[in-house]
Amino acid sequence: MMAESTVPEGCSSVQVEIYFSQKYRPFSGSPSDLIEPTVRDLIRCGVLREGDRILMKDAVFVPYANIIFDHDRASALARVQGFLDDAGIRSCGRFGEWAYYWTDDSFKSGERAAERALGDTG
Ligand SMILES: Cc1cc2nc3c(=O)[nH]c(=O)nc-3n(C[C@H](O)[C@H](O)[C@H](O)COP(=O)(O)OP(=O)(O)OC[C@H]3O[C@@H](n4cnc5c(N)ncnc54)[C@H](O)[C@@H]3O)c2cc1C
Repeated sequence: MMAESTVPEGCSSVQVEIYFSQKYRPFSGSPSDLIEPTVRDLIRCGVLREGDRILMKDAVFVPYANIIFDHDRASALARVQGFLDDAGIRSCGRFGEWAYYWTDDSFKSGERAAERALGDTG
């Protein structure tokens, strides 16, 4: 994914996501080890040019990111959400619904949870 952000005049930014999973593709090493191979691949793909001047490079590890739709998901989700429902806890959002939500989906999920919570009290 590429994202625009506030950068100095005449510059632009590129954000790259590289995925790992403790279960299927464990992460080892340091996030910064991935910078140079990523730059090389961006040049190979034509996103960057050989002589491009890069003012700032950074890499961070985000331990919880995308939802993984493996074979255990449906049963595990039903169990967790059933437990929360029984306890009257309204979970929402990407991690509350364990769904591949974008920001707008998460917002709407929050609205639905709030409406349900209001319904619970009313
Ligand atoms: C790498 C990546 C890139 C993405 N890019 C985009 C994009 O370009 N466009 C887009 O629309 N969406 C994008 N998304 C998806 C979007 O970020 C999420 O869908 C959205 O932020 C989810 O919102 P949320 O409120 O459900 O969860 P979050 O934004 O993760 O908010 C959950 C919050 O709960 C807090 N929290 C967790 N546990 C506890 C606890 N026990 N007590 C108190 N607080 C707690 C967390 O610290 C966090 O602040 C991206 C997601 C990822 C991972």
